[in-house]
Amino acid sequence: MSDSPVAAQKSPPSDLKDMSDLVSLSKRRGFVFPSSEVYGGINACWDYGPLGIELKRNVKESWWRAMTDREDIEGLDAAILMHPKTWEASGHVAGFVDPLVDCKKCKARFRADKIDPAALQAKKCPECGGELTEPRLFNLMFKTFMGPVEEDAAVVYLRPETAQGIYVNFLNVQQSSRQKIPFGIAQIGKAFRNEITPGNFIFRTREFEQMEMQFFVKPGTDMEWFEKWKEVRIQWHLDNGIRKNKLRFHEHGPKELAHYARAAFDIEYEFPFGWQELEGIHNRTDFDLTRHQQYSGKKLEYFEEESKERFVPYIIETSAGCDRSLLVALVDAYRFDGERTWLAFHPKLAPYKVAIFPLMKKPELTEYTDKVFTDVRRRFRATTDSAGSIGKRYRRQDEIGTPFGVTIDYDTLRDHTVTLRHRDSMVQERVPAENLIQVIEERIQNWGK
Ligand code: ATP
Repeated sequence: MSDSPVAAQKSPPSDLKDMSDLVSLSKRRGFVFPSSEVYGGINACWDYGPLGIELKRNVKESWWRAMTDREDIEGLDAAILMHPKTWEASGHVAGFVDPLVDCKKCKARFRADKIDPAALQAKKCPECGGELTEPRLFNLMFKTFMGPVEEDAAVVYLRPETAQGIYVNFLNVQQSSRQKIPFGIAQIGKAFRNEITPGNFIFRTREFEQMEMQFFVKPGTDMEWFEKWKEVRIQWHLDNGIRKNKLRFHEHGPKELAHYARAAFDIEYEFPFGWQELEGIHNRTDFDLTRHQQYSGKKLEYFEEESKERFVPYIIETSAGCDRSLLVALVDAYRFDGERTWLAFHPKLAPYKVAIFPLMKKPELTEYTDKVFTDVRRRFRATTDSAGSIGKRYRRQDEIGTPFGVTIDYDTLRDHTVTLRHRDSMVQERVPAENLIQVIEERIQNWGK
């Protein structure tokens, strides 16, 4: 395929420098809107628009297929509200706290662990130099009440992570699916954290979705599985087209490591605001299941037939943010060459794969376009557009990251060929209309090769 237009793609001219460019593109084109905007918005809550929801579904689909199209992982969709004891067992009631400091002058609020230790010691606001309060501990769980009476006994929490729903279902899943260890449970779902310092668009929000997989292994084999999952997970981001030089591992040192964890690595991405966590891979030992045994009084052990051994499995966790992966998809795809803005999504993430245009709004061309559109959309998510000059229509599709444009012109009526335009290289090739779907399939299969 060395002579294919895809192979001829040029390297990108420039990346996203300023998040505000992405925020405005996202709003203008219908990826992400500020939540409750007619009321002036609500801090750090965002709504996904028509293209955003497609992109999000594609991110989730990519994750779900990668994680569950294998024999050793089962899916789960646990409730957001769980028995309140869950959060005592998990340590979230006592320990899910961030120390926070407020500036008495400008009222800015900071996580004490995220500001310069010298400023914290001097109690000096990093923004205005005003005086900071003493650090206070703040529980990040959202509380609500079950039933009509708002009393302590009725307190429940919105889950701050999806993982606990998996742990408490460990035996239900294992026994109903007759899995043998090692095996995993995958789940995608909402989580809520009353973050002190949300921000950077959808990077840190108070309501978000996680894509988590917990892999149950025999103690002693845990580090081997930990290493395997690290590699599988970084490869997933690469397979989504995320550029290799923008991804790295960050190992948690002894100070960062949670008390129960034996090892932890973050996959980090280089955002315009620096390297930040995108996903965590953790060796959680037998901490979670042991705690749930203690708090529930129910055994959460596994019996291994071959060795006749009974043990509490160790857990290797892979915990990715769905919204954060979507943000990475947008940030990584953003290109600007001084004139043209486009999103260089991998086709599997692109909201639309193909856009089909009549060269002009003439009945003989639109009729042909409709036929091609009907055919193509049976195979790919596609759109059509006949408003404005063809150049403008290409640019609109570039901005929403549609990898392929198809134009129907007067030659099409004569010889039944169409123009296939490639978003990244802008190269155009002439393709017989009857081969169009097959050619696009080939181009997608060879993407990036
Ligand atoms: P941080 O230290 O940045 O608050 P964390 O280490 O607590 O994050 P985890 O609990 O490991 O994060 O969560 C796993 C993943 O869930 C993160 O890598 C991230 O992608 C996502 N995530 C966590 N908190 C948020 C949030 N407030 N908004 C969006 N995504 C989040």
